[in-house]
Amino acid sequence: MVKSIQQHRPKFTTHADGSDAVLFIHELVGEEDGPTIGISASIHGNENTGSQAILELFRILQNQKLKGRILLLPVANPRAFAVNHRFTPLDELNLNREFPGDDRGTYTQQLAYALANGYLDQIDYHLDLHSGTDRPTVDYVYIWNDEGLSRAFGSKCHYRPVQGKAGTVYAGTTKSVTMDKHGTKVVTIELGGGIVDQTPYVERTVNGLLNQLRYLGVIEGDVQPNPKQIVVNELVGIRPKHGGWLEPLCPANGEAITGGQLLGRVVSPYNFETIEEIPTPFPNGIMIMQHLTRNLVEAGDYGFMVGNLESATD
Ligand SMILES: [Zn+2]
Repeated sequence: MVKSIQQHRPKFTTHADGSDAVLFIHELVGEEDGPTIGISASIHGNENTGSQAILELFRILQNQKLKGRILLLPVANPRAFAVNHRFTPLDELNLNREFPGDDRGTYTQQLAYALANGYLDQIDYHLDLHSGTDRPTVDYVYIWNDEGLSRAFGSKCHYRPVQGKAGTVYAGTTKSVTMDKHGTKVVTIELGGGIVDQTPYVERTVNGLLNQLRYLGVIEGDVQPNPKQIVVNELVGIRPKHGGWLEPLCPANGEAITGGQLLGRVVSPYNFETIEEIPTPFPNGIMIMQHLTRNLVEAGDYGFMVGNLESATD
């Protein structure tokens, strides 16, 4: 059994309505010593699949024998989460670009500072859950500095960002505190989202996290063998140029898509004409993100992501 479970709610500021702004951290301590694992979700407020998975994971873990310590952060940005918004409504900042934060900065910068100095600095491993938003559905796992741990989540498609690009595109993310400052082992997980039942994605997330915890020796049991996996080094996001109905025409996430095939098209809800056809960018690609239903999009919304299979490895 878990030796102790405690809820910590460190306060970092006061809201205008008088309520305390706090971090919601659950600390599960095992009977034996071991590493500290941080599992977090909803750093982007409209990606709540991971928060659902952490709820389910907590129900399972409270009856497990633990070695080490697990710090669950089910909702990293509560104000954004409450309104299903990517950014914090108070200052419209992207929390995952504001690290290491600023104790005297805007609300999001203060939140980032509190997380950097009361959560991210406490952990040896960081499993950070993201998903597609409430529109697109995504399915891949980053390989940063612990490939085995990334693979143990059990997803098919992995992305290893190339050096250099990783420094600019990912500046200000949690890993600027964890990996870059504290040497924390980091896995960013992207799974789920869309206007579809999240149950299968929540289940896959819980199973993946449990397998990663077995891989780290934090819980007992045999590590499940990985499925056939692919690592891409090049990933392209494709946004619709125009607003309208985005109709998906592509294969499922994890499936191949070849040059000449269409990812989807934008159709006018008003005059029914096709405004735009969106081709796949690579001769040989793999689907990583897409809309699973006909969604109304604005010009420049998230559309699709495709990995390049030409430079991919096993
Ligand atoms: Zn995200």
